[in-house]
Amino acid sequence: MCYILYTLHSCNHWVPQAPKNGPVLRICKESEEMRLGRPCPEIEHKVENRSQGMCDDCLWKKVTR
Ligand SMILES: [Zn+2]
Ligand SMILES: [Zn+2]
Repeated sequence: MCYILYTLHSCNHWVPQAPKNGPVLRICKESEEMRLGRPCPEIEHKVENRSQGMCDDCLWKKVTR
């Protein structure tokens, strides 16, 4: 199943991880080979790592407050 990787921040926000200039959605091997790069109808959401800090949005809010 195709998937999106997230970082779970201390503010409990899930932020999708995008490779440099790449799509957020990771195409699985099956889709790549069988479906010519079209993603699966269902997409899995996975937490890849946890961050001790807040997400950018929350950091910005804190800075501009
Ligand atoms: Zn897939
Ligand atoms: Zn946040």
